[in-house]
Amino acid sequence: MIGRLLALAPFIAVAVAALASLVLPAYQVSVATYVMIASIVCTGLVLMTGIAGMVSFGQAAFVGLGAYTSACMSTQFGLSPWLGLAGATIGAAATAALIGVVTVRMSGHYLALATLCFGISFYFGIGNADAFGRFNGMTGIPPVTVGGFELRSERQAFGLVLVALVLSVAWCRRLLASRCGRVLRSLRTGSTIAETFGANAQRHRLLAFVAAAVVAALAGWLYAHVQRFINPTPFGLNASIDYLFMTVIGGSGQVWGALVGAGLVTVIKHELQDLLRPLFGATARFELLVFAALMIIVLHKARKGLWPFLQQVVASHMPPRAPVAPVTLTSRRGRPDQGLPVLTAIGLRRMFGGLVAVDDVSFDVRSGEILGVLGPNGAGKSTLFNLISGGLQRSGGELSFLGAPLARVSARDMCVRGLSRTFQHAALVPEMSLIENVAIGATHLGRCGIVAASLGLDAREERQLLGWAQHLLDRVGLGDRAWELAGTLSLGHQRILEIARALAADPVLLLLDEPAAGLRANEKALLAELLVRLRAEGLAIVLVEHDMEFVFRLADRLMVMNFGRRIAFGDPEEVRADTGVQEAYLGVAA
Ligand code: ADP
Ligand code: MG
Repeated sequence: MIGRLLALAPFIAVAVAALASLVLPAYQVSVATYVMIASIVCTGLVLMTGIAGMVSFGQAAFVGLGAYTSACMSTQFGLSPWLGLAGATIGAAATAALIGVVTVRMSGHYLALATLCFGISFYFGIGNADAFGRFNGMTGIPPVTVGGFELRSERQAFGLVLVALVLSVAWCRRLLASRCGRVLRSLRTGSTIAETFGANAQRHRLLAFVAAAVVAALAGWLYAHVQRFINPTPFGLNASIDYLFMTVIGGSGQVWGALVGAGLVTVIKHELQDLLRPLFGATARFELLVFAALMIIVLHKARKGLWPFLQQVVASHMPPRAPVAPVTLTSRRGRPDQGLPVLTAIGLRRMFGGLVAVDDVSFDVRSGEILGVLGPNGAGKSTLFNLISGGLQRSGGELSFLGAPLARVSARDMCVRGLSRTFQHAALVPEMSLIENVAIGATHLGRCGIVAASLGLDAREERQLLGWAQHLLDRVGLGDRAWELAGTLSLGHQRILEIARALAADPVLLLLDEPAAGLRANEKALLAELLVRLRAEGLAIVLVEHDMEFVFRLADRLMVMNFGRRIAFGDPEEVRADTGVQEAYLGVAA
């Protein structure tokens, strides 16, 4: 019963808001309208900052860009505000794309500073331009007309703002649940996951940047035509910081957090002034200090914002997600014939400054075999994996994959060619479900982009990708936990999940970096069984592992490394008997 009510909660909230706008006093309707406009900006910030991990101090400038574009089009050229909406969103998208091409490459505080510069330039640019009424602003902006009816007051425009908010939230949620959204959600952990599974991390960052700007411009358009007067103040740096505050306080990882944050911050700011007046008198302005103290307390107690607290309550009452029907993707790549070389490396070399991490290493791996790689810590095994998979560029040597020489190796390209891998330190997206983590592996098997996802045209492909992910989860024995969050898994299960994700990319070569580390004996046995089955299906597997029993039991051939060099290569029994190996690695005096 509670679950059903919660599922209907968004619809009930919309209905209650619509009814309330008819009966509440004008002041409260006005506050609610501005809360909704701020919420729209914050949904964009959730995408950009909370999900894709890019902090923006310039979001209010994009709101201003939308507001001024439409205000100019309607007051100076007499165009309809609806045309103004098109102008505002296209203008913001183009501006964001231009700025984004340069800035999203920057990481961390450089990007934040770049958006700060944009925000400040916009504010002073507009404030000093005669065409925009300088700091006095622009008046006489016409209201939006719907079906011949002019929305002149906030009460009349309330419905329009509510519809815009519902559409923004729905769009944002739909986008995040799509193939593109899964890549976006992986970006907060860095670019590695996206690039390893064939997605362009930079392009997705740019996409989040542009999407956030478009949503901000929509909010600006509403602001201009509801208020019908604009000046630069609400689009300055303070406003940008406010939007960031709202998003972070609410919980920047989820769209609902944006609504909670925007509502709370706006209402507290409005109410504090009235509440503190009897204490400090009408002239003393202490509300900002009190507000700052309140925010510090909230952030101290709830680092991920307020929404995760509410979510715990909500989640415990929600019915479990419907299971996804497993699908075996029919368009899967054919395997090369058994025993054909999949990857050949000749004289591979990689330096880190003066250190030679991989030194003149040659080997090949064939389809339908498991090549074990042994070596003490620091021998260069993980570096070797990175050289093959495109995580690092080689300093020398030659590589070929399925007969084709590889001049420069990029992770994205190798994924598309058929190489897939796991990481020594599990690299998963903890806030995403198991099935979605696995589906990231299948990113390059899908085609639908942001437009298809926005219009809901990706349903068939999503059924296939998620079904394929479910099939692989079933295969590794995690099928009944599909919708649990990856962050709740034990270390051993995280490694298994990584293997499922690597298989989702439909590889011909699988690189496993210490997959059995942290697994219990029975889990190791299940993993060994899985690897044997994959080998029988024709997959080529390179297995780096410390557990010698595990490697000797599985490997068809073995390579031993020490100090970056290959010290033995060939039949496991011969390698085991090799005196050099025994001295250098096995610790047995010959
Ligand atoms: P293994 O996986 O066999 O334990 P690694 O490939 O991780 O070994 O490391 C091989 C050597 O290269 C080590 O000495 C390590 O310190 C060094 N190394 C690895 N990655 C880097 C890096 N990004 N920068 C500098 N040195 C590195
Ligand atoms: Mg390693």
